[in-house]
Amino acid sequence: MSYKKTLNLPKTDFPMKGNLPEKEKELLAIWEKMNIYAAMRKGKGEKKFVLHDGPPYANGNVHIGTVLNKYLKDVVVKYWSMSGYDTPYVPGWDCHGMPIEHNVARAMREKKQDVDVLELRKACRTYAEKYVTIQREEFKRMGYVGDWEHPYLTMDYQYEARILETFKSLVEMGYIYRGLRPIHWCPVCKTALANVEVEYALHESPSIYVKFPLRNALGGVDVPTSILIWTTTPWTLPANVAIALKSDYDYVAFAADGEAYIVAEALLSSVASALGIKEPQVLKRIKGAELDSLKCKPPMSERDSVVVMADFVSLEQGTGCVHMAPGHGYDDYQMGVRHGLDIVSPVDEEGKFTDEVPEYAGKIVFDANPLIVENLTKKGIILASSRITHSYPECWRCQSPLIFRAQEQWFFDVGKKDLRKRCLDSTRAIAWVPNWSRDRMVDALEARPDWCLSRQRAWGVPIPAVYCADCGEALLDTGIIDRVISLVKENGCDVWFTASLKEIVPDGTVCTKCGGSQFVKEKDILDVWFDSSISSLRVVKDDGEPWPVDLFLEAVDQHRGWFQLSLIVAMATEESSPYKTCLTHGLVLDPQRRKMSKKLGNAVAPEEVWSKYGADILRLWFSSVDYTSDMGFGDEMLSPVVDVYRKIRNSFRFMLGNIYDYDDKKHRVSYGELGELDRYLMHKLQLLILKAREAYESFKFFRVYHMIHNFCVSALSQFYFDIMKDVLYTFAPDSKERRGAQTVLHDVLTVLVRLTAPILSFTCEEAWLSFPLGRPEKSVFLSEMPRPEPSLQDEGLASRWDRLVEVRDEVLVALERAREKKMIGNALESRLVLYSEDDNVKNLLKKHADLLDQLFIVSGVELSNSKGDLGEGSYAGEKVDLLVSVQKARGEKCQRCWMYSTSVGLAEEFPHICEKCVRAIRETQTNTNGR
Ligand SMILES: [Zn+2]
Ligand SMILES: [Zn+2]
Ligand SMILES: [Zn+2]
Repeated sequence: MSYKKTLNLPKTDFPMKGNLPEKEKELLAIWEKMNIYAAMRKGKGEKKFVLHDGPPYANGNVHIGTVLNKYLKDVVVKYWSMSGYDTPYVPGWDCHGMPIEHNVARAMREKKQDVDVLELRKACRTYAEKYVTIQREEFKRMGYVGDWEHPYLTMDYQYEARILETFKSLVEMGYIYRGLRPIHWCPVCKTALANVEVEYALHESPSIYVKFPLRNALGGVDVPTSILIWTTTPWTLPANVAIALKSDYDYVAFAADGEAYIVAEALLSSVASALGIKEPQVLKRIKGAELDSLKCKPPMSERDSVVVMADFVSLEQGTGCVHMAPGHGYDDYQMGVRHGLDIVSPVDEEGKFTDEVPEYAGKIVFDANPLIVENLTKKGIILASSRITHSYPECWRCQSPLIFRAQEQWFFDVGKKDLRKRCLDSTRAIAWVPNWSRDRMVDALEARPDWCLSRQRAWGVPIPAVYCADCGEALLDTGIIDRVISLVKENGCDVWFTASLKEIVPDGTVCTKCGGSQFVKEKDILDVWFDSSISSLRVVKDDGEPWPVDLFLEAVDQHRGWFQLSLIVAMATEESSPYKTCLTHGLVLDPQRRKMSKKLGNAVAPEEVWSKYGADILRLWFSSVDYTSDMGFGDEMLSPVVDVYRKIRNSFRFMLGNIYDYDDKKHRVSYGELGELDRYLMHKLQLLILKAREAYESFKFFRVYHMIHNFCVSALSQFYFDIMKDVLYTFAPDSKERRGAQTVLHDVLTVLVRLTAPILSFTCEEAWLSFPLGRPEKSVFLSEMPRPEPSLQDEGLASRWDRLVEVRDEVLVALERAREKKMIGNALESRLVLYSEDDNVKNLLKKHADLLDQLFIVSGVELSNSKGDLGEGSYAGEKVDLLVSVQKARGEKCQRCWMYSTSVGLAEEFPHICEKCVRAIRETQTNTNGR
């Protein structure tokens, strides 16, 4: 007789191999059909959790970093939705701006098309639409849930109108001004750059010491005297208007070649060695303050350069005397404003000197540098020159070195009405994850200059200003802005370029300066960051959803970008932060921690991962890392995650396979009637729920990952599953022991699948849909996140069993040793004799004597009262006072359950199996006959 047929072997449709790339597509179709996002929101009550999506840029395929960002958002949305909250989640895209315009204009130029502004804008719109569609499909492929059919696009007409409405409020409140100020400028892209668009790289520059002769002699020094400065930007010398010293520093005038030079005393020796002077002779000592307001002759202009006092002067390098060009530096500019200095900036938009510097007019400043050095050296004005390599700002777009250039621009005054202070106060009050990111935001806010809002580009929202045709005065008039807003609502922003001035400027509008009534339209557009800074207002507040929103969640570079700019705009217009909690994550780098880029060829396309391994593997990897710092990612990092995936999948499969004949309504064994081991697992399950929920709610998803993995391995596959296989397979199907184990498996499975669903969405849905008798909810995402059930916890039982598990671990080591010595093969070939001198251990073993062979998976356990019974070679426990002797099991091997028993052969009908198996078969036959 074959006994295999009498066993209850597992049955399930849930395959061992995931074949995720194919299976995921089926699941996506199911979600699409049931409109999972709408279904998740349906019937949810008043409680809302709003995560507002920061818009990625609609250019190119999605980057792995953006996929990570949206993944974290997806986990949050799914967790809170399953926890009973309504979770509106509207994804968005940033559609205007430089990178799109750049690509589109290049393509048009290549086709030799004339780039007319309206044609260009039209092509940019089409381009952005194309990438919105591509990226949307990519995000959906990852299983991300959201209102993908109704995303917000910053180029939607209504959105564009809202940008202008916010701008108008800021104008009314006095935050917007037009001013001459130095800004980072890319001579190649010919545009101003926002702070966030500036990158730093190593760059070689001249390093020169330049003399500024004093207009009047210095008392006590008989020879001609000059102040000596050090700079790395010779091209800024024509714009020099001042020299900054620190009032409490000690300065000296020292002699060289019949002249005297003033430098900070602390830097004298380093300056002297740069100048090749061995022992400089000090002629006079003087405090910085005593030099205040002296006038010098600058090297490249006829004006005066005046000595001013400044705190930022340091003794780190140079001469302690700092060349100031307010038109070419931000510190210099602020200094200039304070001291009423001229803001000189003789450089045009291509980075070329203007006619104001006749000698070098038309030359690009970087090309002029060596000529300036050569000429001034010849004239004896530069005393020493060399070259240095230092960190220098460059354009994020084209990698060209940037210049600071003063230009008339539109600014957002961040100091107005205490705005910066209010933003700082709110930053200190709201929650930051991780906590240190608050400091980063504080630093970024403190350092932020006024926000330069104008860009000299075409693809964006126009600044609705006009200029007087007669005198050039700029006019920002709310009457004009109102007209523009209503035109934009109907026609989009193109209308600014097509509408006549008559349509835009109300009758009777006159220039505030000269009274003229003819105007021309502003050509500049708004910084694209202004577009995205209003998104939570447009998408959440205007739609009547709870605002400030619960969460902003973006990469760490957004402290200077979207986090900050959204805060500034909301604080100015709504007197509130737009978010309650702000979460930041690190960047995804390559395995060597380098930035992924096309240039380096080290970028991993997310598409490669999901078509090779499946999106769930990428999801699992994302959850396995501590996202708070930067993460190294490469194909080779996926294999440990693939192993973990297999363990989780196999755990699901084992449970699904063993409840094939279990109907929870009919077969459930009540908690009180469950065995101790079953109740112990129920207890552990409650702890898992509690801790996993805590981890989800504090956004520590990697903890959830480790807990689930650990539970699957140590609580389930190496413990409960291993021990209960015998009960599940060999006991009569309807026996209380087997139904009890199935009750536990059923509960563990329904908990685990739901608990893991936000992380491993595809596989958990697949498992959910594979439940033998189905589930009341059509999707795991329509079910509820489990909550810990206090009545299923039993601390007393758990602490006893924790101790038993320690004993078991010792026994498993003893069995392993015996196996190594070839005393046994399978553990079932053995019988154990145990001895302990610890009364607690003794009592524990005695109390559970009936369970021990099941717990250790051996064919017999004997508790001995005398050490002598154990004989030579017994194993002594390391953590538990226990001696274990492994001996050959008694009796014969049962052909059905593989346990050794002296009862094998006693039943005539079944000569090869043990009495336990005989009973199981008879019980099954009785039950079957009875039906
Ligand atoms: Zn550039
Ligand atoms: Zn005028
Ligand atoms: Zn048996």
